[in-house]
Amino acid sequence: MWDRDLLSGQVALVTGASSGIGRACAEALARAGARVAVNHLPAETAEARSLVGSIRDAGGEAIPVVADVSTEDQVRSMFAEVVGAFGTLHILVNNAGIQSDAAFTDMTLDQWRKVIEINLTGQFLCAREAVREFLRRGPQPEVSKALGKIVCMSSVHQTIPWAGHANYAASKGGLALLMQTIAQEFASHRIRVNAIAPGAIRTPINRDAWSSEEAAEELLALIPYGRIGEPGDIADAVCWLVSDLSDYVTGTTLYVDGGMTLYPGFRENG
Ligand code: NDP
Repeated sequence: MWDRDLLSGQVALVTGASSGIGRACAEALARAGARVAVNHLPAETAEARSLVGSIRDAGGEAIPVVADVSTEDQVRSMFAEVVGAFGTLHILVNNAGIQSDAAFTDMTLDQWRKVIEINLTGQFLCAREAVREFLRRGPQPEVSKALGKIVCMSSVHQTIPWAGHANYAASKGGLALLMQTIAQEFASHRIRVNAIAPGAIRTPINRDAWSSEEAAEELLALIPYGRIGEPGDIADAVCWLVSDLSDYVTGTTLYVDGGMTLYPGFRENG
């Protein structure tokens, strides 16, 4: 667990924070001393309020903020709300994402668009507002060496092709170059932009892949480290990546995947 001083004085926004990886990130950032805005969809109000309550009970500061990240007006209002409540923003964890799986020949245009709009356009809209706020606020070297930090939640499927998930793999592959391009454009302003590529993490998005013994066994065959990841594995990496401990890191993807991208099929066959 990180020390409370790690991010003290900083404000973080986590999108899709009412469950899974986003929830763990919001909790960990608050434990590391950040004031946290917990983004959620209207349907997730109860979950978001309970998360905010548990952060406050533990002595942290948090507020819930509603927005569909794929809708420009809602994203702009959400950022205005965060800046209104906390004064500015230092950290964006661009986490919200969905899957809508189908064999390629059965995938509807609606399925394609929905995944691209949330996973890729949503990250563009939030990152753009975050960069605008970092530039508006200006340097605060007593708070953080960087002007601002963005973490894009990607996936091992920015690298590994994934049959039956063309929309998802395309959204994460696109995200890799979006992240690097923003990082290149704003490095001279001391804005750091990085991605985390989780492997298989135990959350609702992939429940079918781990909830039965048989499915979990099949999944474990793809993970050299021999266990399924937990949301906290990602949250710890996020805390490091948005802290001054990683101040010289920008434009990179950190794979947190138990070795899934090490081509485990080649262990005994190659
Ligand atoms: P979850 O389904 O638990 O969390 C996703 C969150 O995003 C949910 O809270 C969801 O809300 C929210 N969300 C969905 N659409 C929107 C939207 N339009 N606006 C705002 N919030 C939205 O899954 P994970 O925690 O696993 O996923 C988090 C991220 O991690 C995703 O980007 C995913 O692609 C990535 N990832 C996850 C992996 C894993 O193994 N779990 C592996 C690789 C990457 P609601 O529940 O209401 O839909």
